[in-house]
Amino acid sequence: MASDAKKILLVEDEKAIRDAVAAYLEREGYWVVGVGDGQSAIEEFEKHQFDLVVLDLMLPKIPGERVCRTIRDTSDVPIIMLTAKGEIEDRIIGLELGADDYVPKPCTPRELVARMRAILRRTSANDNSSGPVQVGKLSIDLSQRRVTYDGQPIAFTGTELALIEMLARHAGEPVAKADIYPRILGRPLGRYDRAIDVHISSIRHKLAEFARDDILIESVRGVGYQLVARGAA
Ligand code: CA
Repeated sequence: MASDAKKILLVEDEKAIRDAVAAYLEREGYWVVGVGDGQSAIEEFEKHQFDLVVLDLMLPKIPGERVCRTIRDTSDVPIIMLTAKGEIEDRIIGLELGADDYVPKPCTPRELVARMRAILRRTSANDNSSGPVQVGKLSIDLSQRRVTYDGQPIAFTGTELALIEMLARHAGEPVAKADIYPRILGRPLGRYDRAIDVHISSIRHKLAEFARDDILIESVRGVGYQLVARGAA
């Protein structure tokens, strides 16, 4: 194992799936800690510095929702939720709790790794971004992982941060969802896919608290979203 191997916490109670995914990830060069319940997930998370968490929603002892919330209390580590097939509600719940993306089960280890790579690539790409962006009193600095409004820091997850930065760079113009998905989640926009909508809703919530309606993210019907700053132009 290379010392710069990405560390993955894999939380999945079905042992056959966990073992298959862990073996695949290890072959791909990741360093993996696999656990089968929510309690162990939280304990392991506190012990190591993970680069990404793969989290099943339905877990014994402590459910995935609570594990996700507990991790989010202290960390913006990327989280990919594993959700039961067809359970659209589950996917949205996971995202609302701060997961970055979801993968419906059953999935092949290959699909999961593709999704992980996309998120990890974006996380490390943030380190050499093209400098901070300023819209009105809103300031976003990807390399510092920092968003402020009028000097006050607003806590965003990695995905929210990348998303608001993309919109802020195009402030006043619509950004198509078809462009947002590949850039932010590393995948094309799927049918009935609400991942970005849920992230937007969370960003709006956080913005409203600080910026009231000075900074708005407007829906552009049939296209996507646009960030609008009142009185900033
Ligand atoms: Ca499960």
